[in-house]
Amino acid sequence: MTQHRFDLVVIGGGSGGVRAARVAAQHGARVALAEEYRMGGTCVIRGCVPKKYFVYAAEYSKAIAQAQAYGWTSGPAIFSWPVLRDGVQEEVTRLEGLYRSNLEARGVTLFNTRATLASPTKVRLATGETLHADKILIATGATPHRPADLPGQEHAITSNEAFLLPALPEAMVVQGGGYIAVEFASILSGLGVATTLVHRGEMILRGFDEDLRHQAERNLTAHGVTVITSTTLTGIDRMPEGLRVTLSDGRSLSAGGALLAIGRTPNTVGLGLEKAGVNLTSHGAVAVDEFSRTNVANIWAVGDVTDRIALTPVAIREGHAFADSVFGGRETRFDHEDVANAVFAIPPIASVGLSEAAATAKFGSVHVYKAEFRPMKAILAGDQTRMFMKLVVEPGTDRVAGVHIAGADAPEMIQLAAIAVKAGLTKAQWDATCAVHPTAAEELVLMRERAN
Ligand code: FAD
Repeated sequence: MTQHRFDLVVIGGGSGGVRAARVAAQHGARVALAEEYRMGGTCVIRGCVPKKYFVYAAEYSKAIAQAQAYGWTSGPAIFSWPVLRDGVQEEVTRLEGLYRSNLEARGVTLFNTRATLASPTKVRLATGETLHADKILIATGATPHRPADLPGQEHAITSNEAFLLPALPEAMVVQGGGYIAVEFASILSGLGVATTLVHRGEMILRGFDEDLRHQAERNLTAHGVTVITSTTLTGIDRMPEGLRVTLSDGRSLSAGGALLAIGRTPNTVGLGLEKAGVNLTSHGAVAVDEFSRTNVANIWAVGDVTDRIALTPVAIREGHAFADSVFGGRETRFDHEDVANAVFAIPPIASVGLSEAAATAKFGSVHVYKAEFRPMKAILAGDQTRMFMKLVVEPGTDRVAGVHIAGADAPEMIQLAAIAVKAGLTKAQWDATCAVHPTAAEELVLMRERAN
């Protein structure tokens, strides 16, 4: 049986693992990385990247319709799912190749197979090989949750399969109220699929600012999605003409497909963590400290498997901080405060910092500034979609503690707003910034009057 010896063995070739492996190798470490599926991980292969291309595709339906108001005439617009699906897959394959060649160029040894822990210093590959590791990084990500107690759940797909569907159904039921459910509902509806979103909570997008959640739900409905809240799926049956999805309120829906987007489970099962003595949290994630250290001295974990903030840039920063700390001689900790995030619905929403409720709980009271308006582009096209912006300001210090935006380009705006929030700038400093006209973003520096 072949044996190999490395300074670092990384399990998982996703956002966190790839960054950590590359930077550790740059710092001079002998690094191995094992990936059981495709290099690049969830984000590149079946997450952020293909999802964003689908969003672009879905936005065209409205853009084509609205173009007439801007003087354009063309023939009937016909959408081809295979053209989109296969084009996106081609790009994903190109990116996968880049990830692979970048790692190889830095001298990282790649193993295209599943890896598990055999002891605190041994990693066993599914090929039978054993890697001896001075240090180990667990970066195995997470998997879409499938509820074992939902009869017929095997007839449904998850986001993993959604990118490769042989054909788009005429109607689809999406279960979930988080960002993945909302994004797929938006995409499907934009591509012409009659879409119903079923969510067990009272309102979608838990964790976001209440005003933003309301706006997102209104926008989703205006975009053509039927939103059913306070309801769950109780069964999925395969019928001759498709699926019959039954709901907890007694209704049943006919659809060509059902997509479950009800959360993601950290990939810790069957990983041999118990053989190495690695502790888990009560949610089954790898328990780590602020430096991504597990309870075992030579084992670290980053990214979704630790269930902190499940976003690609976070996994990348955690992986980078790990490599700098452990191999770069510079102890570095990623700061999880004020991480901006976006929901690429149509139109999108985006946030950074504290919601009004969280800020009120923290500071006792807050100053809130709101703006709601029809964006210029929508007016000429007769589009009723509204843009919403909200600033949450800490009284006393005048620091802008939260920014919440719903509407076109919200994710692009929030990236820049996040710099100001992270830097702790005050409302007076925002106001001292001159507007760029005509833009929607100028409202962010024009909200002078307190709304409450
Ligand atoms: P992953 O990228 O999941 O990588 C883990 C890798 O480990 C996988 O490739 C897996 O195959 C491999 N692996 C697992 N077990 C083993 C094993 N035992 N041996 C070998 N290999 C193994 N984030 C954003 O920031 N923006 C977005 O717009 C966004 N959109 C998303 C859309 C969808 C549909 C999904 C599902 C996720 C999205 N995310 C988004 C989240 C983002 O993809 C993750 O936060 C990110 O990929 C986490 O990186 P990671 O390295 O922790 O794990």
